[in-house]
Amino acid sequence: MTAFEPLAETSSARNGRGPGQDRSLVVGVDIGGTKTAILVCDRDGRQVARHIAPTALGAPDRAADAIASLVLAALAQAGGSRGDVRVVGVGVPGRVDPARGEVSLAVNLGWQALPLGPQLTARLGRPVVLENDVRAAVLGLHRRRVFGDLPSLGLLAIGTGISAGGVVAGELHRGAHGRAGEIGHAVLDRTGPRCACGLRGCLEAIAAGPAILARALDAWTAAGTGPAAGGSEPPGAEAVFEAAAAGDPVAGDIIDTAGRAIAWGVHVLALAYDLEHIVIGGGVSHAGEPFMAPIRRELDRYRAESPLAAEILRPDLVQLLPPGADAGVWGAVTIAREALGLGSGSLGRPAEPPAVAPQGREVGQA
Ligand SMILES: [Zn+2]
Repeated sequence: MTAFEPLAETSSARNGRGPGQDRSLVVGVDIGGTKTAILVCDRDGRQVARHIAPTALGAPDRAADAIASLVLAALAQAGGSRGDVRVVGVGVPGRVDPARGEVSLAVNLGWQALPLGPQLTARLGRPVVLENDVRAAVLGLHRRRVFGDLPSLGLLAIGTGISAGGVVAGELHRGAHGRAGEIGHAVLDRTGPRCACGLRGCLEAIAAGPAILARALDAWTAAGTGPAAGGSEPPGAEAVFEAAAAGDPVAGDIIDTAGRAIAWGVHVLALAYDLEHIVIGGGVSHAGEPFMAPIRRELDRYRAESPLAAEILRPDLVQLLPPGADAGVWGAVTIAREALGLGSGSLGRPAEPPAVAPQGREVGQA
């Protein structure tokens, strides 16, 4: 049991508990734009309970209450209580200061300078560690060896925004100021659409879900066609992929442009970090093959034009994250375990066969 000493044991934790009753649970919380997922794991990293709820956190000052309630519900489902919990790991989409437990900027959640870690610790009475969600996810994928036992691994998340996380030489790379991976704001077209960050033509302003949808809606509105014409519900980016699959040339062009931009991002990451694999995930990637095809075509063009690109962009470099991989919440469990100094254990080894595809073929394809 000495290997399982918690970060900062509170006095309440072991009150009235003999060693045999010490369940040593680790909780992971993945706060997404639409849903919050919670995993309760045992000391070996095996799943004990899984709880998913819509992300309806309300105002920032109510967020910690809502998250703490979800954690307690998940613990009840696991037949445990807060006293069994060694540490809670939380993945948040936004800029996170893990040392202070503060979310400095989470645009899509409307959070700014929110001390979520200390707030959750106050409500749960247990240590809480925070990390950016993409970083937590890539650490989880690495530690779980989802793509093999690798010295390095990158994750490029294409969703409401675009960002990357990387494990380099076995360690999570945060950068000098905790901003490593903000590749979504790298400019690839100075005349492109204005990005929320102020610049024009950022990768995110061209290839993130809202950018893909906005360009399609503009085109469809101008032409009086497309899913927007007459539908009452505003569609998501998936509507653009569906329209392209149905032969809409405008949608096809937009997806092709996004794919070429993402390929550019992959190339930049590969050149900068020489990673074993770059995994592509995020909500937009759930479109699967229609999403991947233009990326792959552009990478093939790079390879055909340049021996250097052909060497850097190895056939198995890019992998599509399987939608069922639960990378976010397993990442949250992983940062919690790392905070305790625990190894990977049996950490959520996927129930499915290993996600690494045969040479040159992305996983998750039909
Ligand atoms: Zn930007």
